[in-house]
Amino acid sequence: MIDRQSYVGRFAPSPTGPLHLGSLYTALASFLDARSKQGLWLLRIDDLDTPRNIIGAADNIVRTLDTFGLHWDGAIAYQSQMLADYQEALEKLLNKHILYPCTCSRKDLSTVYSGHCRDQQKSPESAYSYRIKTDEKVISFVDELQGLISYNLADYGDFILKRKDHVFAYQFAVVIDDNRQLINHVVRGADLLESTPRQIYLQQKLALNTPSYMHVPIIVDAQGYKLSKQTLATAVDLSHPNLVIFELLTLLKQNPPRTIQQASVRELLEWGIENWTPSKLENCLSISQR
Ligand code: GLU
Ligand code: ZN
Repeated sequence: MIDRQSYVGRFAPSPTGPLHLGSLYTALASFLDARSKQGLWLLRIDDLDTPRNIIGAADNIVRTLDTFGLHWDGAIAYQSQMLADYQEALEKLLNKHILYPCTCSRKDLSTVYSGHCRDQQKSPESAYSYRIKTDEKVISFVDELQGLISYNLADYGDFILKRKDHVFAYQFAVVIDDNRQLINHVVRGADLLESTPRQIYLQQKLALNTPSYMHVPIIVDAQGYKLSKQTLATAVDLSHPNLVIFELLTLLKQNPPRTIQQASVRELLEWGIENWTPSKLENCLSISQR
């Protein structure tokens, strides 16, 4: 049994392609944070969004983490094997009468959902998603790097928990998963900062603990765009993993000394754990790859 008091962290990539430098950066940050606090570091494959999954990507990610010496604890968890958990939590919220079916199509909607289907009680004839009712509630939390973060839920409107195609939404699944896995420290990219208030809202509605959050900068290219498949970020180079780790430690502003540039992956990670000072990334939302 894992002790709830001790540190439990995780890395939760979506298998939509091989790891690029930006995703490995986040993996390394969460690994160093967990290991420097004698914590557990779990690996979860966020493979719920089946239309976006790429065959072989999960195995590829697992092999890449291995190559970079980022060894996780315990068995790999797969969201796709946890559907009964999400359904059970959905039913809990349904019983609280805070969910409702929505038949609106994407093109009917502006960015913030108007609550058009709010009073729809019966299951509609056509395909529908489930949305959760929100109100003008301000959710605040103190991020370990970004400080006090406050968002008004009204800025997002009632959001989707289960899509029309029956896929559970990321915002919802991640809350159920982090709770089941007893995650109490979430270290992830600042691109997810805006998602956190919705996740905290769901934790409150389900009476679950809220983990601590640390949102690390995202890596951007010379044009300022986030490295991603869309910007054709290339898969990380597996031929010299130690040079990549050295570069990532530099991008994490840990100032690794030049003398260890040629050190082995294991030595670099040991140095990284020993010297991990996340405060060097305070108030930093993005960092350029140079
Ligand atoms: N699977 C999500 C992603 O790859 C991250 C989940 C999380 O860290 O909360 O963007
Ligand atoms: Zn609707």
